[in-house]
Amino acid sequence: MGMNARQQAIQAIASTYHQLDNLDFRTEHIKDLFGVNVFHEEEQKARLPKPVFKALQKTIKLGVPLDPTVADAVASAMKDWAIEHGATHYTHLFQPMTGLTAEKHDSFLNPTGTGAAIAEFSGKELVKGEPDASSFPSGGIRATFEARGYTGWDPTSPAYIRETPNGATLVIPTVFVSWTGEALDKKTPLLRSMEALSTQALRILRLFGNTEAKKVYTTVGPEQEYFLIDKNFVYSRPDLLNAGRTVFGAKPPKGQELEDQYFGTIPERVIACMADAEAEMFKLGIPVKTRHNEVAPSQYEIAPIFEDSNLATDHNQLTMDVLRRTAEKYDLVCLMHEKPFAGINGSGKHNNWSMSTDTGENLLNPGDTPHDNAQFLVYCVAVIRAVAKYPELLRVSVASAGNDHRLGANEAPPAIISIFLGDQLQDVMDQLERSDLKSTKQGGFMEVGVSVLPKLPKDAGDRNRTSPFAFTGNKFEFRAVGSSFSISGPNVVLNTIVAESLDFIATKLEGDTKGGKPLAKAIQDLLPGILKESKKVVFNGDGYSEEWHKEAEKRGLPNLKNTVDAIPTLIRKDTIDLFGKYKVLSERELNARYTIFCESYVKTVNIEANLMLSMGKTMILPAAVRYQGQVATAVNAAKAAGVDASAQVDHLKELTAALTTFQKALAALEKAHGHHADGTPYDHAKHFRDHVLPKMADLRTAADSLETMVADDLWPLPTYQEMLFIK
Ligand code: ADP
Ligand code: MG
Repeated sequence: MGMNARQQAIQAIASTYHQLDNLDFRTEHIKDLFGVNVFHEEEQKARLPKPVFKALQKTIKLGVPLDPTVADAVASAMKDWAIEHGATHYTHLFQPMTGLTAEKHDSFLNPTGTGAAIAEFSGKELVKGEPDASSFPSGGIRATFEARGYTGWDPTSPAYIRETPNGATLVIPTVFVSWTGEALDKKTPLLRSMEALSTQALRILRLFGNTEAKKVYTTVGPEQEYFLIDKNFVYSRPDLLNAGRTVFGAKPPKGQELEDQYFGTIPERVIACMADAEAEMFKLGIPVKTRHNEVAPSQYEIAPIFEDSNLATDHNQLTMDVLRRTAEKYDLVCLMHEKPFAGINGSGKHNNWSMSTDTGENLLNPGDTPHDNAQFLVYCVAVIRAVAKYPELLRVSVASAGNDHRLGANEAPPAIISIFLGDQLQDVMDQLERSDLKSTKQGGFMEVGVSVLPKLPKDAGDRNRTSPFAFTGNKFEFRAVGSSFSISGPNVVLNTIVAESLDFIATKLEGDTKGGKPLAKAIQDLLPGILKESKKVVFNGDGYSEEWHKEAEKRGLPNLKNTVDAIPTLIRKDTIDLFGKYKVLSERELNARYTIFCESYVKTVNIEANLMLSMGKTMILPAAVRYQGQVATAVNAAKAAGVDASAQVDHLKELTAALTTFQKALAALEKAHGHHADGTPYDHAKHFRDHVLPKMADLRTAADSLETMVADDLWPLPTYQEMLFIK
């Protein structure tokens, strides 16, 4: 008998030789690689006429509108630089609502009309593109009669060269808007929200007498989790190939219970792939810093040094792209899905967030004595107030069909949004609330009990890994973001709700101080009340525990358990008012996003249901029926030979019962899936959640039970054990 796809996959993996020595850092220092493919500030300075360079820097650093006359000079320098780096084409890269990036390439080539050609790139081409791109989700903003979509250069994110086999492309980061200027993408609202926050944060700084800072940036360091699985397995699993997650698969004999994977030695092929991807990222100016094994088998993490949110978002999109592409070079597939394997940890993104002045001051740095640091307390309380006031918005910013498998399960933060402050900060906040600020708990040194070791300073508080929103020393860490997400959405929400809080606080303090109150007194009068109102969202205990769920309910904290519960937040009146007030998203733009969220949920679940039906019918059912035939034949043969076949008969009965359950579940899913719900996109989403998902779960249970019964040589799908442990 020939081998099935699964057996062929294993054999292919076992017999493939992988070229792992592709780089040599003895001859190429990483500091020399960094940024070589970026048209960064130094490159701009060297190539642009001085006044042009200055004008461009003013736009980049201070947000001054770009003088249109400089665009031609920038375009020309950019083109020369790009061609020297082997680029033949340029592209406006944008971030449509799919959460991915999109690009259309144009060559620099321009025929002269005399049979020759020259390379050209004008300021006009740099500044604006019209990719049409009418097939991206617009949530109704682009009716076909007004289908124009434009890309607009974002000078605050530097252009770069993307090297690919047989060439290179100049990539220009852009926003993507409709002809009416409405956002069709993820970058536009992010930039708007950063401006909103900067305006409000500066008001507070001015109250403290800071006249130097011209801008406040939000900063983000996203930690990215992912899986690497051999491509041979992915090719023989239509679910992994098409949905990025397994819709079938029995629990393996060994999972992650030995905890031998987390921070373990990184496998050879994987570390070669990581190093290759990182080298690529260095060239692109992405400051990658950390790599390690994650909790689940075959799961890893990469983390960069933080940057301003716009750049961090662009770089995180690029990081995902580089990881995916590089994995292929090593016959691996990089899975960014939030839950590729049931029963095994899923992947998230930890969005580390803070605010920093253009002069480099981190506004959430408490210093050694936070009780004495009024400015820090104001910014920190503003964040606490924002999260307490708008928890549902943070929740919806991380909502997706994929993340629904993860949030609220016992390895990811719960769907209840709460804040962890830690011992030290909690103590300071308690003092503040009592208007009795006296001291800060200090950590001292750790007692390790070994005298030869250098002294280890002790943190004043422990970490908490179960909180969705934790203060971690000098930043907040939003841990509920899904691994496949663009981090733009969560940061748009964070920036906007904190801008609103800062606005509220600044208005009060400005009023009071104008009336003659000293600033310190005005702060003392204001913050305790805010803390009293907001402290219901603060929780320092175990976020996974049953007690917390009960306690949160008592406190009246929202628990939006799934995406469909969370989506309506997007079009609530207070949401529309908030985003309208700070000019981050208009009512029409919010409505569009609401529709897109619904549609994307439906499409995702629909694809997975389709996959279950087709794999169920064409792969699992035939395998089970074949095996049933083999057992039946064996039973008959045994009986004919006159031996006791009762055990085989029992097995046949058990198998047949499991097969019947499976076929009934197939039929039930087919029916629920085929049922056409009328109504709005939201009604469709509800239908999929309430009627299709439960049938998918039933079918999976039935199939996974067959997997434990059918003869191994007949089972067509690579098993969890194989996919997770054959490396
Ligand atoms: P962990 O212990 O959670 O793994 P680290 O302390 O290594 O975290 O930092 C995680 C991320 O937080 C890194 O990407 C780091 O650059 C980022 N980070 C540090 N400071 C800031 C800040 N001020 N603003 C935003 N992100 C920050
Ligand atoms: Mg972290």
